[in-house]
Amino acid sequence: MEKSNIIVAGVPGEGERKKGITESIISGLRKALGEKKESGELPVLGEREKTKEEILRIETVQEFLLKLFDKLNLPQDQCNLETNQIHFLSGEMFAENFSQMDSGVGGFFRAGDSAIFMNDVISEGIEPAEAEMLKLSDLSHECIHSASHSKTLANVNPDHTISYGNYRTGYMIVDVGKSENKFKGFNEGVVCVTDRLMLSSESEELKKRFQLNDELLQKVGLNAYIENQILVHTISSRIAEYRNESPSKSMTRMVRGQFTGEMMHLRDLNHIYGEGSLDLLARYQSSKDMDINEKQDPLIIQYFQSVDEGERNELKKEILSFGN
Ligand SMILES: [Zn+2]
Repeated sequence: MEKSNIIVAGVPGEGERKKGITESIISGLRKALGEKKESGELPVLGEREKTKEEILRIETVQEFLLKLFDKLNLPQDQCNLETNQIHFLSGEMFAENFSQMDSGVGGFFRAGDSAIFMNDVISEGIEPAEAEMLKLSDLSHECIHSASHSKTLANVNPDHTISYGNYRTGYMIVDVGKSENKFKGFNEGVVCVTDRLMLSSESEELKKRFQLNDELLQKVGLNAYIENQILVHTISSRIAEYRNESPSKSMTRMVRGQFTGEMMHLRDLNHIYGEGSLDLLARYQSSKDMDINEKQDPLIIQYFQSVDEGERNELKKEILSFGN
């Protein structure tokens, strides 16, 4: 868990004393987070032994992630996967372990202990080659979340107890006060775009290893979060135009930011679309209230696609009228 940065808030006192307390909180928390990560590697209810295909899938994603990190000039240890961190479950056992979740999801990453749970249900009733493509793409998606920049926030409470929780994963920021996740939808879009770019640049290798064909590989990574991906591409190409740079340069910066935590580059949006635009991006798919998301999200997409300032101002008013 070394990659995890820790922020400490609410430490009493000042100067050296405050610094000392903060340091001891960080070292204690680092230990606790390490233990949590180890607990995330223990098998869960109904988890079976990994198959040869599943191990090959993990090894492939690991290899591609290392290559991607190398290309982006990022520290390789941040994308190391532990085989035991990844849990494969049948549809039935996934539903049993995570009854609060939509049983149709392909998998998820749990930031607290870095565990990844994959759900076999997505491949039921689909021909084997397409099922393999979906499983690979979903695994790679969750592993990208796992390799993303992460931050933990520790807070010293008035009664001197310390509470802590995940604060950042990629671009997503947990707003503890409002119990919502800012930039959640944008972050998903960047993960999907990264997933698609990473896998499609390795299509020859994938054909050799998994009997995938060109037709299937053209669709890789397009099975989920399509609107989010469109949003990321729209924003990225507008930024490229604004900075007078190639679209791939602007996209690379976007992809890189999820791994490094850099977000300042997104401020370009306020210059391109007008003040407050970054806040609108933060709202996309971020409310805990699904009704609000359903109403505001299409308007947010429309906002970032619009080249008409007057129209954008109207849309902005409407989006902000949903409150938060
Ligand atoms: Zn995701």
